[in-house]
Amino acid sequence: MTAQTLSDEPLPALRVVPAQPEVDLPAAERAVADLLRALRRDPKSPHLRDTPRRVAAAFAELLTPEPFSLTTFPNDESYDELVLARAIPFTSLCEHHLLSFSGVAHVGYLPGERIIGLSKLARVVGHFARDLQVQERMTKQVADYLESSLSPKGVGVVVEAEHLCMSVRGVQARGARTVTSCLLGKLRDDARSRQEFMALTMPVR
Ligand code: ZN
Repeated sequence: MTAQTLSDEPLPALRVVPAQPEVDLPAAERAVADLLRALRRDPKSPHLRDTPRRVAAAFAELLTPEPFSLTTFPNDESYDELVLARAIPFTSLCEHHLLSFSGVAHVGYLPGERIIGLSKLARVVGHFARDLQVQERMTKQVADYLESSLSPKGVGVVVEAEHLCMSVRGVQARGARTVTSCLLGKLRDDARSRQEFMALTMPVR
């Protein structure tokens, strides 16, 4: 039997908890018009007439994950070194201020019996980014999902992002990047594996 005939075993569908209902666009548009009025701006003015529709559409886009299916392949070559996708770009929405945070995620795993297409690592990041998030939770969701669906020997996720709520308001820490990480299995427990992963995911300056 060839590798091809053994492959293509779909994983269980992404478990997103809780499942989000579709965005109610007309209600969102009305709410944005209300917000403009509360901010003492006139949503009927020629400059702002289309703003409620645009804002509602932008939020709907940022909060609706693209569907995808994960496919795994048998690890026929018994590859047991780190597989790492570096600098996967993403944008998410901070749940405290509804302002975006964006940056890159480094996602790696130590293969067990199955491996995954590299582009799917980016899909997993994109999926969890399209939500009202905090960076810590997003980091852990990506790691937990890969652990439960791929059963690898280890998973590591490092996320570095700039938060608009930090850079344009409050402390105005422009350019400051927040780094979060989640290491599971051998990437957490084995010092050599952990060091290798952290060295490969060091920020490039
Ligand atoms: Zn925030």
